[in-house]
Amino acid sequence: MKIAVIGTGYVGLVVGACLAEGGNDVICVDNDKNKVDGLNRGEIPIYEPGLETLVSRNTSEERLRFTTDLDDAVRASLINFIAVGTPPGEDGSADLKHVVAVATAIGKAMNGYKIIVNKSTVPVGTARKVAEVISGQTEHPFDVVSNPEFLKEGAALEDFMKPDRVVIGTNDPRVAEIMKELYSPFLRTGKPVIVMDPESAELTKYAANAMLATRISFMNEVARICERVGANVNRVREGMGSDERIGFSFLFPGTGYGGSCFPKDVKALMKTSRDHGYDFRILDSVEVVNEEQKHILFDKIVAHYGPDLSGKTIALWGLSFKPKTDDMREAPSIVLIEKLLAAGAKVRANDPEAIPNAKTIFGGRIEYCTKNYDALKGADALAVVTEWGLYARPDFDVMRKALAQPVVFDGRNIYNPNKMRAMGFLYFGIGIPTDPTTS
Ligand code: NAD
Repeated sequence: MKIAVIGTGYVGLVVGACLAEGGNDVICVDNDKNKVDGLNRGEIPIYEPGLETLVSRNTSEERLRFTTDLDDAVRASLINFIAVGTPPGEDGSADLKHVVAVATAIGKAMNGYKIIVNKSTVPVGTARKVAEVISGQTEHPFDVVSNPEFLKEGAALEDFMKPDRVVIGTNDPRVAEIMKELYSPFLRTGKPVIVMDPESAELTKYAANAMLATRISFMNEVARICERVGANVNRVREGMGSDERIGFSFLFPGTGYGGSCFPKDVKALMKTSRDHGYDFRILDSVEVVNEEQKHILFDKIVAHYGPDLSGKTIALWGLSFKPKTDDMREAPSIVLIEKLLAAGAKVRANDPEAIPNAKTIFGGRIEYCTKNYDALKGADALAVVTEWGLYARPDFDVMRKALAQPVVFDGRNIYNPNKMRAMGFLYFGIGIPTDPTTS
């Protein structure tokens, strides 16, 4: 099929590359000329495992190309995906200005029947709004479909190629058939395409992300109780997750959720609820708990060293909001670093992929270390903020010798507390008792 994907960010680039891999002719459009020029030179603007290979193969086989020319892309395509950002506005609502701008441009460019697919995460009613905007620009027939994307950064290709489900929001069975056909190469394992009305599809995405955020905040609160009563959250998690009704996913306490999706989608669902006269109370607490959780490592560091950290150096392992991505949007590391700097500490940070993005946030205010052990040299403590695989099994001897003081604040519970303490580290986890005999 002939496809245009408008917005070539984390989602659009993955969707475009994967659809091209599925045999379609895909034109990816972005209004950021630098990004498009870079992509045309083979430079991938984000870190996503496997993406570079996929883009390179599909561009060289001429199923995938990049342009700033939206008109040309729309005219050449039957299906037009909108995959632009929907950042939170001042009041928490999803800001639809990019979506509306693209819908307007699509309407102007249309030269015949088109299917416009909302891939961006958008509030209930946006499919209708996009249809209104396009009708204002064209006489040509079209349909608007809501097709929320559930990919996870860091595993985006796998998620798109082997989705748990594909949600198609349309009231027209013929359009549903075309969309099913488009996704059929990715659903050979029998995972479902769920066709529903556009409003339900739009809400499904928010409800799913809000549920996942709720599980994270719930476990962060369980961890806080564990610390107070002398229980170990790792054991509690095993006990809980073994219940099939609960399962193990998203049961890990940590330093709070971040990224471009959970924080904004939780806010947007709260706003939609308020707009319809309903106060989504659980989500208020989910947010409050998460904001507090982003401070948890700092609080532990201050509890150990006192509030004045001048003269102290803290090493950070991990800057991105989660492993296998360079994305630092709403990352807990940002809150921790700002608080450490405000308390007078020096920060030396390592991350396998996020250092370029971190530089745009912190500039010269922190030191960047391309090797993880270098960050430890002379530091008074290590704070593990992101659970990148390379941090899981370090050489603990090298670690202990490099640190000025063998103190570890493990924000992701990646180490065994008993073993750490036996090796001479002073170890602090999340929801882990300080008494080693119960760890
Ligand atoms: P992003 O900011 O990485 O990318 C958006 C892209 O759109 C940018 O490259 C920008 O230059 C481009 N753009 C903006 N206005 C444009 C215009 N008028 N014409 C052409 N291009 C334009 O955003 P993202 O992370 O890819 O997210 C896109 C949407 O997908 C959001 O609604 C988000 O909530 C949703 N989503 C994101 C993820 C994720 O993990 N990042 C997962 C699922 C859904």
